[in-house]
Amino acid sequence: MDVTTRIALIPGDGAGPEVMAEAEPLLDWARDRGRRLDVVRLPFGAEHFLATGETLPETAFAELRDGADAILFGAVGDPRVPDGRHAEAILLRLRRELDLVVNFRPCQPLPGTGTEGLHLEVFRENTEGAYCLQGSTEPGRAVDLAVHTEVAVRRLLEAAFTRAEERGCPLTLAHKANVLKHGHGLWMRVFQDLRGAFPQVPARGMHADALLCALVQDPAPFGVIAADNYLGDLISDLTAAFAGGMGTAPSLSWAPHRPFRCAALAEPVHGSAPDIAGKNLANPVGMILSTALLFRHLGWEPEARAVEQAVAAAMCDGAKTHDLGGSLGTAAMGWAIRERLP
Ligand code: ATP
Repeated sequence: MDVTTRIALIPGDGAGPEVMAEAEPLLDWARDRGRRLDVVRLPFGAEHFLATGETLPETAFAELRDGADAILFGAVGDPRVPDGRHAEAILLRLRRELDLVVNFRPCQPLPGTGTEGLHLEVFRENTEGAYCLQGSTEPGRAVDLAVHTEVAVRRLLEAAFTRAEERGCPLTLAHKANVLKHGHGLWMRVFQDLRGAFPQVPARGMHADALLCALVQDPAPFGVIAADNYLGDLISDLTAAFAGGMGTAPSLSWAPHRPFRCAALAEPVHGSAPDIAGKNLANPVGMILSTALLFRHLGWEPEARAVEQAVAAAMCDGAKTHDLGGSLGTAAMGWAIRERLP
């Protein structure tokens, strides 16, 4: 049996390749520690699209789906492709067609951020809702549909309940069922149903607007927050702010029911950051912590923990990029973390 783990790298656009350059050596480090892994690097992104007209060709998609175990992703988005067509065809397609329903966005503030001790985790549905890309623009009228299916909602909420049970912490569902009666009504029904299956989890629904206000006032009482695609996107950018900002937040998406060999994708919460791309200003911590989440998903707990501890140690010692008030560039920050690995 082939026990070699295959990881596909898609650095993408803007700051994506810069932060990926600081995560890639972690794969070599894991290999040096005895993990068997193959790495394949894929060129898809704006540059490739503008040069060839290709976004994510069918053969490459099939190879990723059936030939890789996981994807490490940088970011997509480029001002030269203003409608973001290539980003939809690459990242949104991978999330949707690999059935990566669960997007896990933890917020555990790092030393020196002033919010140490907080432990929030957002579980965001990742394949549908308002990001289903169905709608139309007519003269004087525009429509964006939000599609919610019971299968995806149940998978996401089961993952969130399971995690809250594991941590022994409360679960809050963010919703607007008072106005989005159909879609969020379905979320509420599934949520009520699962409360019965997880009686020991203190679980409540909260209107998303009130939840945002409560989070800003005092995030400490929250543990796991579950939300649909759109609300989860917004809430997790707010929780990223508690941990120091966009540059530090990691994420991992996975398919709980594992329909394909490729069942996980790790990527930072931030996008391609075109305003700072190419200037050695991007913080690689979000990308590096996403790599740690991927290691944990692969069952490589010692490596995951070592990377997280190296990030914390570097920051404790004052290593910081500009977004956190420090002076290190992307590569220097990556090095400051790697030199603290065992
Ligand atoms: P997306 O919709 O793809 O998530 P976005 O429009 O939310 O993208 P980002 O690319 O995430 O935008 O950038 C938002 C802000 O955060 C920008 O000011 C950007 O410079 C900053 N930012 C993003 N990533 C980083 C990073 N790695 N280090 C420092 N600042 C970052």
